[in-house]
Amino acid sequence: MILSAIKTLQETLKNGIEFAKNSNNVEMQQKLVDVQIQMLEIHEKMLEMYQENETLKAEIKQLKDDSELDKKVENHNSPFITFSDDEQKIKYCQICWGNNRKRIQLVISKADYGHSSVARCVDSNCKNYFYMR
Ligand SMILES: [Zn+2]
Repeated sequence: MILSAIKTLQETLKNGIEFAKNSNNVEMQQKLVDVQIQMLEIHEKMLEMYQENETLKAEIKQLKDDSELDKKVENHNSPFITFSDDEQKIKYCQICWGNNRKRIQLVISKADYGHSSVARCVDSNCKNYFYMR
């Protein structure tokens, strides 16, 4: 909306400059050229602000999505999380979630020594590893 108004204004200025030129009004022509330059600067600034606005909108959306997801996180006695809207109750690494919100599904395998299973995080930077009953 504003960008198209600026475009119309620039077109009007262009016509005014042409008119001043044809009327041999050098002073008026120069003043209008100055205004035209200022308009270009404003237009550039507007484009920057528009882009910044788009970036901010995306960031706000991300924060809202993150916040919605946080409400669904279920913590347990062991270092894993589940999500309240997940019927399968897939176990994700609590450490990876806490560090960088990565959802790394734990690999559950059979264990020895009285524990029924062991859960491991497959993330190469994470050493999360625990026994479950
Ligand atoms: Zn992990």
